[in-house]
Amino acid sequence: MTKNGHFKTGVGIALGASSAVYMMTAIPAYVITAGVTTYLTSSLPDNMEIKWWSRGVRHSLIEHRTMTHWLPLWVVAVMLVGHALWTGQAIITPIIDVALFGMFCGGLGHVLMDMMTPMGVPVGLNPFRRKSLRVFRSGSAFIESLAACGTLVVGLGVWLYALGFASL
Ligand SMILES: [Zn+2]
Repeated sequence: MTKNGHFKTGVGIALGASSAVYMMTAIPAYVITAGVTTYLTSSLPDNMEIKWWSRGVRHSLIEHRTMTHWLPLWVVAVMLVGHALWTGQAIITPIIDVALFGMFCGGLGHVLMDMMTPMGVPVGLNPFRRKSLRVFRSGSAFIESLAACGTLVVGLGVWLYALGFASL
């Protein structure tokens, strides 16, 4: 998925992450911090690869979609910080934990979106073996907008659930 696509889908993912923080803490400043950091880190796994282009060829310090896109790593990170927020036992300080939670949700959302594209992401024990759900191809602005609508619907749905307007 393109950087633009990641920021488009990042809106819905940020809504989802902020609603989770609302359910765990109900503190407005934390909810906003989580939403903003999630959105801002929509492209984090790609940025972590430290990439550059020369003569139209992509190079990166860390091989594309390996360690930085390793699904279990992001899941564990979200769960660890999420657990701290849930139990109220801060790992660093509550507001930094919230920002980390947003950052890890941004990374996890990014990796989940990349998992839908044919190249896939590593999901198992081997961070170099990728799997794909093959839902859509990267690069099409139309497809990425559709994906953005999908994440928006999910994000708004979780908010409705968090506020008590919907139940599962
Ligand atoms: Zn990526």
